[in-house]
Amino acid sequence: MDYSRILVFGAHPDDELAMAPTMAMLADRGVEVYICIATNGSEGYPRPEWKDEIVQMRAQEMANADQIIGTTERICIGADDMALTNDKATFQEFIRVIRRVRPDVIFTHGPHDMHRDHLNTHAISREAAWQAGNPVSTELGEPWAARYLFYYKAVQDRRPDIVLDVSDWAHIGPLTRATQVSQHILWHTSVEELEAQAERMRASDATVTNTFWFEDRTHLSYLPGLEG
Ligand SMILES: [Zn+2]
Repeated sequence: MDYSRILVFGAHPDDELAMAPTMAMLADRGVEVYICIATNGSEGYPRPEWKDEIVQMRAQEMANADQIIGTTERICIGADDMALTNDKATFQEFIRVIRRVRPDVIFTHGPHDMHRDHLNTHAISREAAWQAGNPVSTELGEPWAARYLFYYKAVQDRRPDIVLDVSDWAHIGPLTRATQVSQHILWHTSVEELEAQAERMRASDATVTNTFWFEDRTHLSYLPGLEG
């Protein structure tokens, strides 16, 4: 129970909301929640006339979601959407973020995905989590090794290692998705629908879980403080 800070990597604004209930639960318990989004979400416009304003729209939507989650700080690397590149500069930026935040736990995308930015976020963050702990490139910050690395989505070939009961925070899922108004066409939903869903979840006794996979099961078998 002795960790105090988590860092959640996402490729686009809203990817991280897959674990919004967990983030809100930890924030309520006093854990510092840092979110780092790799791209600016510039391709997420469902209508052509939104093209020029989508980045600004999504920045505001992220800020609205953070109010609900209780995010400590959101870091936007700002790579061009659909063009996140696993090059040296981007890799070093991920290391810089990890060394500045100094998280006990890092969450990121898993390996089984279709979207190029998701796959690159997975690859870059996985390697950066390891390399950040080595005494190299120390101009990027003092080396810092997070103790755990988890995937919060896109793992298809095995059962989750952690099934976390987030029932009391389940409504945070639809409530944060309701803030992502620019994406509702893509998701075939609306603010009204999502807020109604949140209300139903708040009133329900049903068990709701978030699931996580260890990046390396050989030396990670227990996540202190995330149990129940
Ligand atoms: Zn995405």
